Amino acid sequence: GRYDVDGVAQYDIELRNLFKSYGSVTALEALDLTVPRGELLTLLGPSGCGKTTLLRLIAGLLKPSSGMVRIAGKNVTDMPAHRRNIGLVFQSYALFPHQTVAQNVGYGLRMRGVARNVVAQKVAEALALVRLERFAERYPSQLSGGQQQRVALARALILEPSVLLLDEPFAALDKALREEMQLEVRELQRNLGITTIFVTHDQEEALTISDRIAVMNAGRIEQIASPRTLYEEPETEFVLKFIGQSSIFPMQVEEVTDGVTALRNGAFTAETSGRDHGFLAGSKVNAAVRPGKMILSSERPSEACNCVEGKIVGAIYLGTITHYHIDTSAGTRAVVHSQNTEETAFLERLSTGDRVWVQWSPKNTLLFPA
Ligand code: ATP
Repeated sequence: GRYDVDGVAQYDIELRNLFKSYGSVTALEALDLTVPRGELLTLLGPSGCGKTTLLRLIAGLLKPSSGMVRIAGKNVTDMPAHRRNIGLVFQSYALFPHQTVAQNVGYGLRMRGVARNVVAQKVAEALALVRLERFAERYPSQLSGGQQQRVALARALILEPSVLLLDEPFAALDKALREEMQLEVRELQRNLGITTIFVTHDQEEALTISDRIAVMNAGRIEQIASPRTLYEEPETEFVLKFIGQSSIFPMQVEEVTDGVTALRNGAFTAETSGRDHGFLAGSKVNAAVRPGKMILSSERPSEACNCVEGKIVGAIYLGTITHYHIDTSAGTRAVVHSQNTEETAFLERLSTGDRVWVQWSPKNTLLFPA
């Protein structure tokens, strides 16, 4: 059921059969989503997939064409944004330039007529949360981008919202600062236990920060799962390609016996195991393997396995690992991430054009309809 025994909502955010169109453009289609209390859920997807539209519908800045929005168990579909008790932080900080940091952070409470001494106390607490105690009297123009974004966060948190919505909040920051802010926000979010929706089109950011990620495509959710599940068990080829790299071999199903699917493409054969993918003999499929699941050897592997011969076309040394690009005899350009250890030291003596064998385990072969 939707409620637990105490009558408290199980989900902090619940969207049912949500549609949104702008004139003839359908931005969201039959979308269902539930977010349990305290979770950080990321909406990830390419430009135009509907992330911002979805966030604005939850915030109440947009009205759905049809469907229902429930927050903390209450139907808020027709409730205006300012009554939804939601904290919003956007990429552009939208701080008031002529107010100090403390005045910016206290703005929402002042508007609600909260007593001065209470506002001062809460501002101090909110600034401590984002580690900006010493900057209370500065103006936004006297702060770095990361500090301005922290002020925006404090300004949202001071109202003790039941839900926090973050729309590409770190997009304008450089990589190092961005990573620092990601970890900081994640820790803050965990400590406060505040249900949070985070929008980004950056897959690395999504993997770093999320409890779960909803991968969106053309107004729909393709898959919603933990970062690890999305990477290791993508349900669709779109998710496979949107999160991380892989080598993809077009093949045909030969036969399926005892959960083992045998595949062929000319002289190249492979198999998958561990899961019945439900393909019938004769189906055309794409067999995909993640770069970290493949290993390289200089001779043909003796044991039965999935293996294919190829020529090295590039090697990118990155310290603990090296990325190899290999043109295989199956016609696919394979990408292999190889740990640099004593066992793989022989690879350092190879160069572009040299022959290698790529191999991987049947259980690490992912299958998608072609
Ligand atoms: P981005 O990452 O580029 O911000 P997004 O995933 O946030 O993209 P939305 O901004 O939600 O995507 O847009 C979803 C779809 O709705 C797109 O096709 C977009 O062109 C369309 N759209 C968004 N806002 C409007 C509007 N005000 N009028 C008409 N069409 C719109």
